[in-house]
Amino acid sequence: MLSLRSFDIKYVKGIGPQRAELLGAELGIHTAYDLLRHYPTSYLDRSKIYSISSLYSSGDSDFPALQLKGRFISFNTLGEGAKMRLVGLFTDGTATMECVWFKAIKAMRKRLLTNTEYIIFGKPTLFNHTINIAHPEVDSPQKIANDSGSHGVYPLTEKLRQRGIISRVIHDAVSSLFATLKHPLAETLPSSVLTSLDLLGINESLKEAHMPSSPQKLEKARMRLKFEELFLIQVDILMRSRKRKMDCEGYFMPKVGRWFNDFYSLCLPFSLTEAQKRVIKEIRSDIIGRKQMNRLVQGDVGSGKTLVALLCMLLAVDNGYQACLMAPTEILATQHYETIRGMTDRLGLNVKLLTGSTRTKQRRVISEQLTDGSLHILIGTHAVIEDNVEFAKLGFVVIDEQHRFGVAQRARLWKKSLVPPHVLVMTATPIPRTLAMTVYGDLDVSVIDELPPGRKPVETVLRYEEQREQVYKATLAQLKAGHQVYIVYPLIDENDKLDLKSLSEGYENIKASFPQYKVAFVHGRMKPAEKDAQMNLFSSGEAAILVATTVIEVGVNVPNATTMIIENAERFGLSQLHQLRGRVGRGADKSYCILMSKHQIAKETRKRLELMTSTTDGFIIAEADMQMRGPGDIEGTMQSGLPFELKIANLARDGQIIQLARKAAEDLLDSDPDLSAPQNALFVNSLKQNLNRQIDWSHIS
Ligand code: ADP
Ligand code: MG
Repeated sequence: MLSLRSFDIKYVKGIGPQRAELLGAELGIHTAYDLLRHYPTSYLDRSKIYSISSLYSSGDSDFPALQLKGRFISFNTLGEGAKMRLVGLFTDGTATMECVWFKAIKAMRKRLLTNTEYIIFGKPTLFNHTINIAHPEVDSPQKIANDSGSHGVYPLTEKLRQRGIISRVIHDAVSSLFATLKHPLAETLPSSVLTSLDLLGINESLKEAHMPSSPQKLEKARMRLKFEELFLIQVDILMRSRKRKMDCEGYFMPKVGRWFNDFYSLCLPFSLTEAQKRVIKEIRSDIIGRKQMNRLVQGDVGSGKTLVALLCMLLAVDNGYQACLMAPTEILATQHYETIRGMTDRLGLNVKLLTGSTRTKQRRVISEQLTDGSLHILIGTHAVIEDNVEFAKLGFVVIDEQHRFGVAQRARLWKKSLVPPHVLVMTATPIPRTLAMTVYGDLDVSVIDELPPGRKPVETVLRYEEQREQVYKATLAQLKAGHQVYIVYPLIDENDKLDLKSLSEGYENIKASFPQYKVAFVHGRMKPAEKDAQMNLFSSGEAAILVATTVIEVGVNVPNATTMIIENAERFGLSQLHQLRGRVGRGADKSYCILMSKHQIAKETRKRLELMTSTTDGFIIAEADMQMRGPGDIEGTMQSGLPFELKIANLARDGQIIQLARKAAEDLLDSDPDLSAPQNALFVNSLKQNLNRQIDWSHIS
């Protein structure tokens, strides 16, 4: 059988060498196989033409990609520099709308004529009472006269469109491929899986995904293709984790000794929650199991993950090992250091802090104590994984807020000791279990699903600009009662001048509104020393108000802070709001989170903000966030942990398929543990090609 993976797309009808080169450079499509795996993101009935007036009268502001037919009345170039754009006024006789180009202005201006009939195709939006489409595809009506049925709408780049490679070109190429090759691919899933889940075969799925014959078939086809991607990942993860559990020696830490016991009886100012106890037990059973531990601890903000980590590090120290805790930022590392040192001071435990700004002299001390074994716990930023940091006997590593550490950084830890240390990853991102396993590789998962007693849920309200005076009055009352206040500004882009301006204006404003209180000020562009100084002002209580950006999002702990005002709350994602809100409600006093927003916000946005006011459950919020925003931040960082790029499955939305895939992968490996059965040979082949590397499941990522 002809291998599609070595079938250069330049030989596909309608592509040729020039287009092939462009497709390769822009989208990484080199072979016919790549082309078939470049799936449409939506579908369009090419025989249907909408009228502009029907868009206006629908009352919607967002539409799916669709076709219109009409003429351009005029073209105007507006704006200057980066803001320059070409606006074409377009009419079909029922109403007018605008087509806008931000790029390729000259080329478009040259190509397009007024008073000539065109079919335009794109995603209309309603903005300023005008329907407009940015960068529509423009075709002559003759060209599409013969089209019928459902066509895929393909993700393409601007450059490709400029060079005439539009959705139709891909559509034509794919259909010519299917016309020449009746069954282009050998089946890529094990037949046992196909039958038990009643999945479509690979060729039928591909064909339907590109050129659906009915909505039902399309749905089945997309489901099969998503399943396949997720199944490959699950098989890979399971193979690796089963292998590791068989092979990989781990440090044996059976002893519960004086450090742990003394800390527990002398230093612990409260009793552990049941959830904390359970998770510690789970970790303990790992470290006495003689296998290397790789465990993820999930717990909502404030659930007390740090304490769990500390107790486990003490167990490691009891067994003669060193431990290390890594945090994603200097502020966090410092704070962990201070908390842990504060709690263990009376025990004489040797704890040190290592960050990018640690002085040479102190570095030398740390280095000496690490190598002679007298340093028990090292806390720091990624500075601790630099090559020149050597431990005598590193046995236990804690990584806080994992999503900010890449897989590669994690892997560097193994080099620090002969036997890989036990690894505990802590995250406040509450994602479902199967998803966590997919994203974080073969980690076992523990959940702290209980907050320490006595916490009062933070009361969250949505307020508008007109209510600012009231908000400030309530804030003043909190300040007068001796409490502290966070005021958070969105600084999505640290380089955005507008954002910085509103931040410093906000700062001046707050100083003027609360003249009797000291106001601290931090943002991400400050030098670390300056940032620390400002943070210290606030955490020491000297400053009553902290004006900040999201640099305070993770982990900052000032229990006396009872109020958080979030400016332009509509600009934050839900998960981010939840993280921010976790900075208050950390003490015994009732706390408040005030979401400030403009009055005029989109329905969706209001729904998001209202959800924040109705629940403090991180799981509900994370789920809603994923569903509302789809592939957002979380998705991006999630994807980076995967062995290959997902082309059709979506980690945020396809949770159910992930579970199906997990189950199917387990069944397959139960029946054929090393995948050596002849009936699975084709599948193993496809697995190898997809993972694009030697399959060596003994290697740990
Ligand atoms: P997170 O899970 O967000 O990292 P922390 O570990 O920072 O949470 O804990 C939040 C606060 O709760 C800290 O001030 C910590 O001392 C306190 N805490 C932790 N465990 C308990 C407990 N069992 N009872 C009471 N307070 C606790
Ligand atoms: Mg924490």
